[in-house]
Amino acid sequence: MQMIKGNTGDWEIVIGLEVHAQITTNSKLFSGASTQFGNEPNQNVAFVDAGMPGMLPVINGKAIEHAVRTGLALGAQINLRSIFDRKNYFYPDLPQGYQISQYLDPIVGKGEILLDMPEGVVKKVGVTRIHVEQDAGKSLHEYNPKFSYIDLNRAGVALMEIVSEPDMRSADEAAAYLKKLRSIVRYIGTCDGDMEKGSMRCDANVSVRKPGGELGTRCEIKNVNSIRFLHKAIEFEAMRQVEIIESGGKINQETRLFDSAKGETRTMRTKEDAHDYRYFPDPDLLPLEITQGFVDDIKKSLPELPDQKKNRYMETMGLSAYDASVIVAEQENAQYYEELLKGKHEPKIAANWMTGELFGRLNKMGVDISQSPISAQKLGGLIVLIEDNTISGKIAKDVLDLMFETGKDAAVIVEEKGMKQVTDTGAIEKVIDEVMTANPDKVAEYRSGKDKLFGFFVGQVMKVSGGKANPAAVNDLLKKKLS
Ligand code: ADP
Ligand code: MG
Repeated sequence: MQMIKGNTGDWEIVIGLEVHAQITTNSKLFSGASTQFGNEPNQNVAFVDAGMPGMLPVINGKAIEHAVRTGLALGAQINLRSIFDRKNYFYPDLPQGYQISQYLDPIVGKGEILLDMPEGVVKKVGVTRIHVEQDAGKSLHEYNPKFSYIDLNRAGVALMEIVSEPDMRSADEAAAYLKKLRSIVRYIGTCDGDMEKGSMRCDANVSVRKPGGELGTRCEIKNVNSIRFLHKAIEFEAMRQVEIIESGGKINQETRLFDSAKGETRTMRTKEDAHDYRYFPDPDLLPLEITQGFVDDIKKSLPELPDQKKNRYMETMGLSAYDASVIVAEQENAQYYEELLKGKHEPKIAANWMTGELFGRLNKMGVDISQSPISAQKLGGLIVLIEDNTISGKIAKDVLDLMFETGKDAAVIVEEKGMKQVTDTGAIEKVIDEVMTANPDKVAEYRSGKDKLFGFFVGQVMKVSGGKANPAAVNDLLKKKLS
């Protein structure tokens, strides 16, 4: 748990997240307009989205299917009957004058998300609900100092709002929650999770309290659009609240925004309550009723989810919780790993080469696995050479560097550069003799009881052999020769 040290002792951070995830579907929630990203402003607008009088919303079945799919993936209760309400407010980019959302009867009820924290620790966070709602349009102020422009391409786009319980206790946990949720929706194909395009946004509710005390008053930081910003915003906000309380002030429940350039949060509006929105059931839409059969079919079509995959890797392949969670975190990683395992390598060795050496090099290049110049098959080709003792693990790292540089296969590089491991005892003995002749004083010292020098001899032999001598053979032969 992360504590904030104040003048009056430790403070605990309490966080609940509301995530808006754009549902992957070609048309909007209640109209046939396209959801294509990057189109000209107002190209994706049907009369319904523009709030024209007398237009009737027609629900997008795919969006509902995906909301249910998401609920099932979070182990949540699915409500066979849900209701669309109007959430009334005035906003220039909300031409209807209300947002169609779900309030008292959402389509998905309580579920949970398991966070993969460092050292294999798993933390459970409750999901309160998921409801389906429309997105709003966008006002653009940057084109002209005198005018605001409006782009309604997003107006009416289908969103799921996934609301968590206030179960998180640190910025790290909040970041892990968002990552895990993104991973799950990507696995099941219900949202692309692309925060840069705004397909996933997060409101962070933050309060502080004395450990174990009553919940404090929260502030809600709106529309955080990256995991890094979420982390920063929470840390800043918690600190701000502690300072206010400790200097005798009190926290006002309000909506704040995070200024990423300044790294601080500031007031956007004082917090409205639900009754300010005058929620009422949308008279244009009947209650949404789905059948258990519909839900069961979706359940059957779910792929293996990240947690299931992780458990399988731990139970049947002997991976550590940490390695398993790193590999399953992104679907592309898991696909790469499974491709790698087709080479029948020892699963743990394959995992180490992938998450350690390969990821390290990809990180340095700033690319992810989908852009890796080394395919799973190529990496497998390297691992084979280690497994059959053609090269040592140490040389293999140099070979991997050369694979990155040249794009050649491991076997080709090893052949061309003569990097094969020397296991021929005659050749190794020759090197040992050479080293002993060059260091008669060290040999004498070793023989008179200075055992520690053994490492020196190993080092020298490896050096003279250009790292190619088989380490086990070097150990054996050195022991014999020196005794
Ligand atoms: P609203 O929809 O008005 O924002 P909700 O009651 O639905 O309000 O709560 C929204 C979010 O605030 C939830 O994610 C919940 O976990 C979180 N939350 C509620 N109380 C607190 C608190 N004291 N500290 C931090 N988060 C909280
Ligand atoms: Mg809210």
